Amino acid sequence: MSHDCGDKNCSDGNCCTSCDEEKQKKSFLEKPNELSNIKKVIAVVSGKGGVGKSLVTSLMAVLMSRKGYKTAVMDADITGPSIPKIFGIKEKPFNGEGGFFPVKTKTGISIMSINLLLEKETDPVIWRGPIIAGVIKQFWTDVIWDETDYMFVDMCPGTGDAPLTVFQSIPVDGIIIVTSPQELVSMIVEKAVNMAKMMNIPILGLVENMSYLKCPDCGKEIKLFGDSHLEEIAKGMDIDILGRIPIDSELAKAADTGTFEDIKNEVLAQAAEKIEKKLNITKENDK
Ligand code: ADP
Repeated sequence: MSHDCGDKNCSDGNCCTSCDEEKQKKSFLEKPNELSNIKKVIAVVSGKGGVGKSLVTSLMAVLMSRKGYKTAVMDADITGPSIPKIFGIKEKPFNGEGGFFPVKTKTGISIMSINLLLEKETDPVIWRGPIIAGVIKQFWTDVIWDETDYMFVDMCPGTGDAPLTVFQSIPVDGIIIVTSPQELVSMIVEKAVNMAKMMNIPILGLVENMSYLKCPDCGKEIKLFGDSHLEEIAKGMDIDILGRIPIDSELAKAADTGTFEDIKNEVLAQAAEKIEKKLNITKENDK
């Protein structure tokens, strides 16, 4: 049976299922603020908390911004927001006529986080799923992101309500999966991978964080968790490896003191290049 899906190649039984899936997916999508022009959205996910998802989000944002892209970070980890601390910002977002303006970091990265809206940054967010989902949607619909080349979304860990809201209401172009060596060998990462596959969101690749420790005296790489299984697992799941990050006290210190944009470390530089190639957008100054 033919139907009108807007695709001229769609004819009798050829692509009905995918069209229906596409239509269903589109129906949940929220419209961004009319003053936002966001070219690419990258969600950074992990199977569980504490593996360095926020650190990788921030690192990628810093690298893309250094490359000259207009970069933004949406902190969708509503119950454990850590992006403002990593960038050392405390300013409240300005609430203008058309919506909220994100706060700019010292190098010009736009940030929106629930922690910037709370009265005290130590106030806990004790909200039920629908309220959290509503806030995430509002970060998309009510925030004026202006011209943004790359938006990185720091997701809630796991495969619950909040990540589902992001995947359904925001047009995510790809996801980066962050894992620790121990998490990699469990099934937790695979759950995140399968969720992305079920939602039809391209997986840009895997980042293994806390891979090893470099001895400050001899430079030897100490594998605290034994040999890495990154290659075989990435191959088994058919996903690209974006990079490996060692345990690095400089990174931890920069994240804890809000001086993340000063880091010299370009440990994920290769990942930034791969993403540039995969998503392929033109910067304002290249036009
Ligand atoms: P998540 O977002 O997955 O919960 P975070 O990015 O907040 O995890 O990281 C948890 C803690 O571990 C933070 O204090 C962070 O600074 C630290 N950390 C993460 N990755 C590294 C690393 N490669 N080297 C040193 N400390 C790290």
